[in-house]
Amino acid sequence: MGLLDGKVALITGGSRGQGRAHAVTCAREGAHVVIVDVTKPTTEVDYALATDEDHHETVRQVEALGRRCVSVDADVRDQASLDGAVTLAVQEFGRIDILIANAGIWTKAPFWEMSEQQWHQLVDVNLTGIWKSAKAVAPHMIERRSGSIVVISSNNAIEPLIDSAHYNASKSGALGLMKSIALELAPYGVRCNAICPGFIKTPMTSHQRAWDMFAGRPGGTEADMAPAGRSYTALRNTEALDPSEIASTALYLNSHLANKVTGVVIPVDGGHLLLPATNSRPVVE
Ligand code: NAP
Repeated sequence: MGLLDGKVALITGGSRGQGRAHAVTCAREGAHVVIVDVTKPTTEVDYALATDEDHHETVRQVEALGRRCVSVDADVRDQASLDGAVTLAVQEFGRIDILIANAGIWTKAPFWEMSEQQWHQLVDVNLTGIWKSAKAVAPHMIERRSGSIVVISSNNAIEPLIDSAHYNASKSGALGLMKSIALELAPYGVRCNAICPGFIKTPMTSHQRAWDMFAGRPGGTEADMAPAGRSYTALRNTEALDPSEIASTALYLNSHLANKVTGVVIPVDGGHLLLPATNSRPVVE
C-alpha cells in the first residue's frame, strides 16, 4: 500500500530536478502524475534550461513504476495554459488531489543593477506562477472538499542570498501566499503548506559555472560541490541534498499523515538555518 494510492498529483516544473523527484515519489506511492513544464526556452537564466528529453525521462520513470503520466507543455505564467492542464487532468483521471507548485528559476544581479525585465521574469515565474497554479486547481478542490497544495519556497525566504533580491522577495512572498491559500481553502477541507529547500543538487545548482565558482578557478568539477555542501549544512555527513529529500517531505505533507497540518513552513536544509553567519560550523569527530 502506498501513501498516495489512487490519488492524482499535478507537479509544475516536473521535467527534472526536484520536480522529477516529486513525480517519481508520488508514482512510487501510488499516484498518477501530471507534469507541467515548458519545453521551449522562454526565460533567460545562467544555467541550461530543461529539454524535451528531460520531459520524456520523467514520464518514462513514472510509467516504469506502473503509474500513468500526462505531460503538459504549459508555462506557469499563463493562466489559460494552467487551466487547460487542469481540464485535461480531470478528463484523464477524474480528479486532482495534489498540487506541488515547484516551477522556479534563479538569476543573479545586485538589486540596483537588475533590469525590470529580470525582476518581472523571475517574480512572474516564482511567485505569480504559484498563485496561478493554485488558482487553476482551487475550484476543483473546493468542489471535492479535499486536496493538498505544497508550495516550494526556499531557505532564501528566511535568509537572503546575495545578489538575488528578486529571488529572495519571490520566495518570501510565496510563504505569505501559502498562508493566504491555507486560510481561504481551510473551510473547504483543502490544505496548503510550504517547504523551504536548502542547497539541493539539481541542474539549477550543479553545472560548470557553479562548479568553477565552488572550486574558485575554471575547470571545476561536480566534486567541488561537496565542501560547499558540507559547510552549508549542520548535519553530519551531509553535502548538497538530493532532490528526493524534498520529495519525501512533500509526500508527508500530501499524505493522510499530515491530515491536520495546514499553513506550515518546513525547511529541509540539513540544519543550515541553525548556522547563523556569525557562528562557525560545529564539528563532531
Ligand atoms: P531546476 O532543475 O531548474 O527545475 C526547475 C523546473 O521548473 C525546470 O524544469 C524548469 O524548466 C521549470 N520551469 C521554469 N520556469 C517555468 C515556467 N515558467 N513554467 C513551467 N515550468 C517552468 O531547479 P530545481 O532546483 O529543481 O528547482 C525547483 C524549485 O526549488 C524552484 O522553485 C527553486 O527555486 C526551488 N529551490 C531550489 C533550490 C536548489 O538548491 N536547487 C533551493 C531552494 C529552492 P526550464 O528549465 O525549461 O525553465
